[in-house]
Amino acid sequence: MLFGRRDGTARRPWRISAKLLIISSVVTVIGFSAICVNVMLDMRRGEEALARQTLENLATTIEADIGRNIEIYDLSLRAVAGNMLLPEIWTVSKPIRQLILFDHATTARHFGAIQVFDSEGKLTIDASTLDPLPENRSDEDYFRVHRDNPNAGLFISRPMLFRGAYAIVLSRRVSDQDGGFLGVVAGSIRYGYFHELFERLTLDPEDVITVLKRDRTIMMRRPFDLDVIGRNLGQRPDWKADNLKAGGTYSGQGPVDATPRLYARSSGSGPLFVVAGKPLTAVFALWKTEAIRIGAVVLTLILFVLGSTLVLAREMRRRAEAENKLEEMATTDALTGLRNRRKFDQVIDVEWRRAMRQQTPLALLMIDADHFKAYNDTYGHQAGDQVLVGIAICISDSVSRAGDCAARYGGEEFAVLLPNVAAEDAFKVAEKIRTKVQGWSDDGAMSTVSCGVASLIPTAGMDWSVLVTAADKALYAAKAGGRNQSVVANLPKLSLVA
Ligand code: GH3
Ligand code: MG
Ligand code: MG
Repeated sequence: MLFGRRDGTARRPWRISAKLLIISSVVTVIGFSAICVNVMLDMRRGEEALARQTLENLATTIEADIGRNIEIYDLSLRAVAGNMLLPEIWTVSKPIRQLILFDHATTARHFGAIQVFDSEGKLTIDASTLDPLPENRSDEDYFRVHRDNPNAGLFISRPMLFRGAYAIVLSRRVSDQDGGFLGVVAGSIRYGYFHELFERLTLDPEDVITVLKRDRTIMMRRPFDLDVIGRNLGQRPDWKADNLKAGGTYSGQGPVDATPRLYARSSGSGPLFVVAGKPLTAVFALWKTEAIRIGAVVLTLILFVLGSTLVLAREMRRRAEAENKLEEMATTDALTGLRNRRKFDQVIDVEWRRAMRQQTPLALLMIDADHFKAYNDTYGHQAGDQVLVGIAICISDSVSRAGDCAARYGGEEFAVLLPNVAAEDAFKVAEKIRTKVQGWSDDGAMSTVSCGVASLIPTAGMDWSVLVTAADKALYAAKAGGRNQSVVANLPKLSLVA
């Protein structure tokens, strides 16, 4: 376009609406994503809570089973330790003595035969045989503990090889009425018990179950590893006991291997406690698959929404541009590129009311080519058109303020509306245009313009046709005065702005 808008009415509605569309889509996408992320995090927390509960239940159940067996076995040991004090025990026959001392509980599977050692550690009575072979256990931990400490109670040994099989030895002190040391009664629980207990459970290969003594010595671990059995976790500087309190859980690397797991510790108060662990990858495996699936669907939806938004925004922009172009065409004079008469009438109406509201002057220049009929007759209509284009350029070059409106009023007549410009300044603009046209036409055939200038502050009840008539009259005066000149309209004092 040759000339830009000068009427201050430029509007770009498409930008606002396309921007709004994009912003609302992006906000929707962000909101939707936030909800999805929240839901997925909730699901993750749910999976973790479920796994924690399962592991806690598992650890507590295993601890209860172990505790009950130890209690049953301990009852037998207590009975033996108590009955050993009966004076008759040494007078009855060996088979009767066996019957008095040992009940049927001790013959349960995985329970070793109970043995009684005297104060020197020599084996005196064995539940499995009437005539035990000579044996001395005075060097064993469980013997020394009871010999040196009358109040040791039930002592559970470290895991050890006992009669050819891995076992833990349970023992109690045999004391006389005054608390004097008479010996030790000991029995064993074989590892077969733990193996069988763990086999009954449905566990993944990476799941671990660790049975520990209160001093945090590992008594048993699944998967079974001899290197780990007997290790005391209390000696590990990198693992604090507080990490996993009774009844609590811990998520991360454990003290035994590097696999990050969710660990739960049993809450009972028996001599042994149990820690059950499941790899974090297994805990969140289902959730991960679901999260990836939902994530992929959401991502596809987001891409679809954003893609559609961009396509829509582009379409809106294209349409708005076309509308702008149409509007531009509908308000522009095709030959000169100035506003056309229709547009001029709209603008003068708006500016007139604004000037009335703000009580500012509104100036109008009416410009008419001199002797144009003669020019046309001499040089032809097309040459005349070129002169009109030239005059339009001269007008545009002289009128540069944002609110100004230069229009082709009709034929070889032009109108320039100058808001907030008094007659004196409007006259200067008219003269500038006139001299420009004159200077430009110096090169070719003579062509000049005459200008009628009028400026007034509109008052209530006044119509803008007053301004047009005044400018027209001034133009007529300029023509009458010899053409190629500007004349300011003679308006009543009230409305004249000088
Ligand atoms: P003056 O205004 O100085 O009194 O003389 P004039 O010859 O210009 O007088 P008038 O206004 O009567 O003549 C207008 C002429 O302008 C008539 C017509 O030939 C010419 N004209 C009007 N519109 C166009 C146009 O679009 N193109 C061309 N080439 N000429 C036009
Ligand atoms: Mg004319
Ligand atoms: Mg003329």
